[in-house]
Amino acid sequence: MAERVNYVKSVSFECNQCGKCCRARGDVVLYPMDIIRISKFLNISCNEFLDNYTQTYDWYGILSQIAIKSKKDKQLTCIFLNEENMKCKIYDARPIACSNFPFSQIDEKNYSVQIVPCVKSYNEGKEVIEFLNKSQQFLAEKEERKQIDEIVYLANKKIGHYYYLKNIIFKTLYYGYNSKKEISLQVRRRIKFLKLLLKF
Ligand code: SF4
Ligand code: SF4
Repeated sequence: MAERVNYVKSVSFECNQCGKCCRARGDVVLYPMDIIRISKFLNISCNEFLDNYTQTYDWYGILSQIAIKSKKDKQLTCIFLNEENMKCKIYDARPIACSNFPFSQIDEKNYSVQIVPCVKSYNEGKEVIEFLNKSQQFLAEKEERKQIDEIVYLANKKIGHYYYLKNIIFKTLYYGYNSKKEISLQVRRRIKFLKLLLKF
């Protein structure tokens, strides 16, 4: 369950890294920047990472996205959770969806906050944006994420039912990156190409 909040709404939240939010997953969707960063961290190619550590996430038939794989246990535990110490095995390169948790961006000014025990109050504490602005990753990849969200939104609106085209966009957005090369340059090139393809 989640609560929708404005980005200046105050929330009292403290993470003690208990790892509970790494269970019942399957929806930790990845941006291309996450794919390259985690592959680099694991010292493997992006294709190896996609083949071994991800699964397709298709939310109500919108443009398919890539999500971190869940274990086939009853709790759908994230494949990267070390269950001995409840720590994330890729913590320093974890996806933005994880570093932003319990907040997820709906649009520029609105976020949803997951209703988890570590969120103590929705009316006091720090502003949502203050939590997020503490994250270097949130700030560094903000513009790319915004543009990718626009591409996904437009692709769904324009070509949602043309599965062949949808597949080309999906592959262009998520596949074929080089984990040894600079992240944002590679992603910006794809964004430019897809914007031309979708003409905006
Ligand atoms: S966000 Fe909450 S549930 Fe997740 S690790 Fe932190 S304290 Fe645990
Ligand atoms: S990638 Fe790490 S932080 Fe994210 S759900 Fe998996 S174990 Fe948890």
